[in-house]
Amino acid sequence: MINQIIDKKSIARATGLINKANRIVTVCHTGPDGDAIGASLAAVHVFSSIGKDIKAIIPDKALDNLKCLPGAKDLVNASEHADFAAKLIKEADLIICLDFNTIDRTGCIADVVQAAKAPKILVDHHLNPNIDATVVISHPELCATCSLLFYFVCGIGLFNEIDRNAAECLLAGIMTDTGNFSYNCSDPDLYIITAELVRKGADKEKLYNKLFNTFSANCLRLNSYAILNKMEVFPDDHAALITLSRDELNKFKYVKGDTEGLVNRPLSIPGIIYSCFMRQESDCIRVSMRSRGSFPVNELCADHYGGGGHLNAAGGEFYGSLDDAAELFRSLLKENNNQYIANSNIKNENI
Ligand code: MN
Repeated sequence: MINQIIDKKSIARATGLINKANRIVTVCHTGPDGDAIGASLAAVHVFSSIGKDIKAIIPDKALDNLKCLPGAKDLVNASEHADFAAKLIKEADLIICLDFNTIDRTGCIADVVQAAKAPKILVDHHLNPNIDATVVISHPELCATCSLLFYFVCGIGLFNEIDRNAAECLLAGIMTDTGNFSYNCSDPDLYIITAELVRKGADKEKLYNKLFNTFSANCLRLNSYAILNKMEVFPDDHAALITLSRDELNKFKYVKGDTEGLVNRPLSIPGIIYSCFMRQESDCIRVSMRSRGSFPVNELCADHYGGGGHLNAAGGEFYGSLDDAAELFRSLLKENNNQYIANSNIKNENI
């Protein structure tokens, strides 16, 4: 087995809280992704197997492709069942916070979670956790909350309670947060965890097909259209931009998730170091950026699009027309080139 990374004191305190609790809820971030949903459902499978009454609450709808995960139909969507979700949180005697670092990330349930009397255990891999929890288990060096939850479950002595369903949920989170083992996956222990999960029956091929290789015809057409007709490449400035207006999205019957990953596509062009995708929402322009190497898209998003994020993955918003948002991006190309690219070794890192 792998070496435990969670400190003994946290494990002891968490074990005490879990032993005492009968009614447990898990909560996660808005727009729950495979890691948030995978961790929530894995916790349900593991803790229900030791007789706990546990419910997983999500602030809003998860992407359709996550419905394949075992137990997904029992998720409590707080946007649809606000009173029920609030009642569960208020009456819980333990709240497990999964895959977020500040309470406001839980959206519509934030106030209820904040006010709840039950002790909280945080299990999360985001930087700078700021949550008033009884036990804070934070390991930003890990790729996924699901891999941290695996250490946690082993640490509290429940490795044997990880059944096929729990294993599949944990593996789904790891695959999601590493882009199916494409990034954040150089820790050898990750493969030991993966091996254990596959040994327990997780079907990686099925997960790959459901999570990464299932698209509607409209989604495929929208992405092809975006790349064929809407991708601007700025080779001298090592950048690319894709914009999609509301009309264009409507034409292809856009549903949430259809443009997932589109922003990454231009980064496959040799010489392109950063990429921006802008999508017109009803009230603003949603901006997302990705980069390779040390180009800081988080600074770009923070300085010009009221957002932030990680060095290589960030986002923001623009209040104005799509044309103006795009023009702002184009107007910054030279400045970015001077500031971050021209006199640095970024080019060598990436090309
Ligand atoms: Mn995550």
